[in-house]
Amino acid sequence: MDENNNQDGEQIVIFEEKITKVNGEVAIKRYQRGKFLGKGGFAKCYEATNLENKKVMAAKIIAKSSLTRNRARQKLVSEIKIHKSLQNSNVVQFEHVFEDHENVYILLELCCNQTLNELIKRRKRLTEIEVQCYVAQMINALKYLHNNNVIHRDLKLGNLFLNKNMELKLGDFGLATKLEFEGEKKRTICGTPNYIAPEVLDGKVGHSFEVDVWSLGVIIYAMLIGKPPFETPDVKSTYKKIKMNQYSFPDQVQISDSAKQLIQKILVLDPSKRPTLDEIMAHSFMNSGGTIPKVLPLSTLACPPSIQ
Ligand code: ADP
Repeated sequence: MDENNNQDGEQIVIFEEKITKVNGEVAIKRYQRGKFLGKGGFAKCYEATNLENKKVMAAKIIAKSSLTRNRARQKLVSEIKIHKSLQNSNVVQFEHVFEDHENVYILLELCCNQTLNELIKRRKRLTEIEVQCYVAQMINALKYLHNNNVIHRDLKLGNLFLNKNMELKLGDFGLATKLEFEGEKKRTICGTPNYIAPEVLDGKVGHSFEVDVWSLGVIIYAMLIGKPPFETPDVKSTYKKIKMNQYSFPDQVQISDSAKQLIQKILVLDPSKRPTLDEIMAHSFMNSGGTIPKVLPLSTLACPPSIQ
């Protein structure tokens, strides 16, 4: 990575990809680092412009010095391998990956309207038509993943991105796994406390695709009510509540009976009793009259949609 100043004294950061061709010639692709987008466990994320074609993307930059542990390296390799193999209109598009001696650079489709986490913080909660619209897009992404034997395992508001057209894009495949054979069960305890399914907490029984359906139920509740159902001040109490399936609907927030019923159908302890993605799409909450818009207007980033 090279750092320089432009005429106005602003810092310009360029990173380069060196490509050695079969004839030994070296080609160089240059990217200019732009606005800081956010920080994850290992990565810092910036806007990045390909200086050849001016295409603007998101660059996840991971310092190699943070990858000294074998587990961290394996996790990154797995994230790249799975994400690279995916292509769907509701999944953050993986564009390219390369490295220099300092960093690994993952170039992704830019989602400039942040995540549903920031949206809920700004708006407090969403209207039912908005929730229907986002759920339909999530189900499209999840059907695609599950048909390709991929379980996301970290579905949460913060991993649901919005691009410039307000299309929902599922991202962050750091905890995703690909099943190798039919009926395979996973035992790694992973996820984010508020969204984690009860069978994941009981590492002995094994888990599969149904963990994503559970998290979808938590997300639907959080979008409508404004906070996740099992939230407590400490992780241990949250896990206890999840294992006992202890949650309620606050009186202060009005939600429809069909919304409540759908959440109650999804948040059941026995994974085999949860609805399939098709059953969720066919539920009365998702078919309560008017057509669900394909995307929502940009104005809904700040205020509820106007009723037509
Ligand atoms: P990690 O895997 O290390 O947790 P994330 O994938 O969560 O990293 O990315 C960290 C932050 O970078 C996110 O919270 C978000 O703010 C931002 N980010 C990640 N991917 C994109 C993207 N495609 N477009 C815009 N911002 C992104």
